[in-house]
Amino acid sequence: MTTSGREHIQLLLDQPREPGMVVSCYADTAVAEGFEAHWLQPLKEEATRIRRGLAAEDHHPARREFDLNVEAIRRALESPEARQARGMAVFSAVGRHFLLAVHSDTPFENRLVVDEVPYVVPLVEAYIRQRGYLVVVTDTHRGRLYASRAGGSRLLDELEEDVPGKTRASGETWGKQQATIDRHRKDQILHFHKHLAERVDRACRESAYRGIVLLGEHEVLEHFRDRLPGRLARRVVYEGPHAWTDPEAEIDARVRALIGAEQAAGERRVLDELARRLGEGCAMAAGPQEVIDALRDGQVAELILGPDPGAAAFRCDGCRSLFADERADCPYCHAPCHKGNLWQEVLDLALSHGIAVDLVRDTSGMARYGGIAALLARDEPQWAGAPGAESSTEMAR
Ligand SMILES: [Zn+2]
Repeated sequence: MTTSGREHIQLLLDQPREPGMVVSCYADTAVAEGFEAHWLQPLKEEATRIRRGLAAEDHHPARREFDLNVEAIRRALESPEARQARGMAVFSAVGRHFLLAVHSDTPFENRLVVDEVPYVVPLVEAYIRQRGYLVVVTDTHRGRLYASRAGGSRLLDELEEDVPGKTRASGETWGKQQATIDRHRKDQILHFHKHLAERVDRACRESAYRGIVLLGEHEVLEHFRDRLPGRLARRVVYEGPHAWTDPEAEIDARVRALIGAEQAAGERRVLDELARRLGEGCAMAAGPQEVIDALRDGQVAELILGPDPGAAAFRCDGCRSLFADERADCPYCHAPCHKGNLWQEVLDLALSHGIAVDLVRDTSGMARYGGIAALLARDEPQWAGAPGAESSTEMAR
């Protein structure tokens, strides 16, 4: 048994479509009343319902296969390790000798799903919700990047560049020369912040974060934020004062406080931005096919998903194109298409391309689009040049 992580999600997503069934089970193992676990009764009922739907006769091979899978899942859920976990996800395909039991820090809603491939949406959602923040601590010439979660912070990257200190020229050199020194210093800081912004961009592409946290002196952060491309600047969820010499434990404390407060605010921020763009009719995609097309074209900055409605998507076996409407074969390469789960397919695309995903609960504004939308990257220069260099705020080092 293993803790849920990106590698398990990928292993499950990569399971080939083969004959036979895969039974995916999600269980709330958090609370047990006496001997009877919370998951037992709901999953029993679900199993009975699915069993009836599989075949009319009791001894039908599909029913037998299902029973064997349920038995394997039950054993995994009753294992001593499972009792320690708050949530369990178990995937069983006895015909392929496949069994994976993943435990989670948060309980899952009890569920049993039978399909040709594992159903991984709740697991991906749990993974996304557990993501931490990318914390950037910076001053005028030094920067550190941390991956921070409730459990602590891990240093990802460090950058230091030579920026001349803030000095005063003396005597007759005061004046013209002082201006030259100041300009030079501003240029150096600008370059440093551009390099740091590139590192932030790289970190965001390598791993998924809930948002970006900037720590440092207010003026420095304001200046640095201007160097971030819009799609990253929008993901800054918090800015706070922090001295370069402050202990790292302070970062952890800041992030822990933020995780609670930011959850609801984060959803509101995303939905407000979406509503604004829907109103303007620009830089967004709404509805399954529009979002799929935008993902394919690499335009999506943030994918916004409500709860999984169980909608279908059709994927081409040949070129891997994805369609929201039913297709027997692909219009591009004429290979056959297979039916899958729309949420699972788009989450797979988003994860593999490092696209930020926002899971929202309030889908009232997105209902007419099927609970799926995306904010697109605006047509912005990747590393906007130096128009602000000369007018930048004076900063103390
Ligand atoms: Zn195709």
